[in-house]
Amino acid sequence: MPMLIDNHGRTINYLRLAVTDRCNLRCNYCMPAEGIDFVAADRLLSMDELKYLGGILVGQGVDKIRITGGEPFARKDLMELMRHLSGLPGLKELSVTTNATLIGPHIDELKALGIKDINLSLDAIDRGTFERITRRKQFDTVHGNLIRLISEGFNVRINFIVLEGQNEQDIIPILEAMRHQKVSVRFLEEMPFNGGSKTFSALKWDHRAILEHIASAFPKYTQLPSPKTSTSINYKIEGHTGTFGIIPSFSRTFCGSCNRLRVTATGDVITCLYGRPVANLRDILRTGQGEDKVRETILRAVGSRAKTGFEAQGEHAKTIFENSMTSIGG
Ligand code: SAM
Repeated sequence: MPMLIDNHGRTINYLRLAVTDRCNLRCNYCMPAEGIDFVAADRLLSMDELKYLGGILVGQGVDKIRITGGEPFARKDLMELMRHLSGLPGLKELSVTTNATLIGPHIDELKALGIKDINLSLDAIDRGTFERITRRKQFDTVHGNLIRLISEGFNVRINFIVLEGQNEQDIIPILEAMRHQKVSVRFLEEMPFNGGSKTFSALKWDHRAILEHIASAFPKYTQLPSPKTSTSINYKIEGHTGTFGIIPSFSRTFCGSCNRLRVTATGDVITCLYGRPVANLRDILRTGQGEDKVRETILRAVGSRAKTGFEAQGEHAKTIFENSMTSIGG
């Protein structure tokens, strides 16, 4: 089996592939109310380009792809890509990260394609809090789809970004509400990629503060073993069906085992969330340079990765932090 190994000896087998920068929510920690400057449609990777790049990367040793965005289901032809990728020999896991507003009509087909893992973003269990954060009235749809996905047997992981002054009061209630659900609630540290929607000051809710807060309400919890490449530290509360996890996405304690590569919806290759794009695959394809050049570009990118998110951030922090997660591909 071919393998992508970076310059620090880490195997890169996990691709996060963004299919659009557009989103139908306006989460205030991700972008301003008016949105960002979304790119022109012809600058997004086309369906053929997405399929082609997916195939090349799987040929190079990627065996896990997570589709992200923007909101993946905002792209009308998304299921064509899911059908294609799910049939690729060598790809062991295909998953999607979604805000669950538009997934409803596709749940049956996702199941039929054998897709098991869904990451669902939900930063509140209280309707008002949800509407204030997302600036949209979609709580019932999201909650309904969450329960449906769990009942249909998907491995659902809820992503809950802990936001100072906005949703701290929902941390314990969401764990209570999910007590009897087979689901993992993952609490993430906020990151500074908000497209200029707000000033990012020191982080109050880091991974330690989140755990202390949960432990004070649920003292009977145990840490679970996690895969080496997992970004979350996972726990089980006595009497709860599911689990919870904490992701130090800003503290970046997990870089040593990072196995990820990102390709944005415009074809940028990003080897660390906190770094700049290192190449553009769309331009290579559109100038007719073909598969060999793409493979070589990937190899070069993987061969010159920063060791940690802090190193990647380097002196570029200011410009990188003007970016929005909807363009980076979360
Ligand atoms: N639209 C999809 C969704 O909502 O899950 C996929 C794209 S979204 C950009 C991916 C993830 O990035 C979501 O879980 C979202 O909460 C997270 N995210 C966006 N901005 C963030 C920020 N500033 N800090 C931490 N996570 C962020």
